[in-house]
Amino acid sequence: MHCPFCRHPDSRVIDSRTSDDGLSIRRRRQCPECGGRFSTTETASLMVIKRSGVLESFSRDKVIAGVRKACQGRPVTEADLAVLAQRVEEAVRQTGVSQLDTNEIGLAILGPLRDLDEVAYLRFASVYQEFDSLEDFERSIRELRADHANAEATAGDR
Ligand SMILES: [Zn+2]
Repeated sequence: MHCPFCRHPDSRVIDSRTSDDGLSIRRRRQCPECGGRFSTTETASLMVIKRSGVLESFSRDKVIAGVRKACQGRPVTEADLAVLAQRVEEAVRQTGVSQLDTNEIGLAILGPLRDLDEVAYLRFASVYQEFDSLEDFERSIRELRADHANAEATAGDR
């Protein structure tokens, strides 16, 4: 890429490091022409196909915006939401796909959201999975209860 200071068309990499989450590489570069130093960040591209068919870059902010309403009034902090969005991105990137649709993002959100707050999870699932009856809620709650029972049984075995 061009040097941002003098527009020289080449630059030299002087340092590379992987970010803590392992999802990007940051490179320090130096322009051989003017000596100016700058950084670039490299991530694998991850595209989301919207319902309208439009492609856009995956964004953690959009994940947070998508679950924020479900978390209203719940003891969920901004930091919790940031961690949730990071977990969603990691889960999605681990599948190795470079493109996915909003439905698949919704699916990837369910697990981390359930770990974060079960009420928010039920709210989100009811919209995302289009619950249209009390039975749908009952089934989800039964699943949550069964998991609690399993977790307690496992804890009892130790
Ligand atoms: Zn330069």
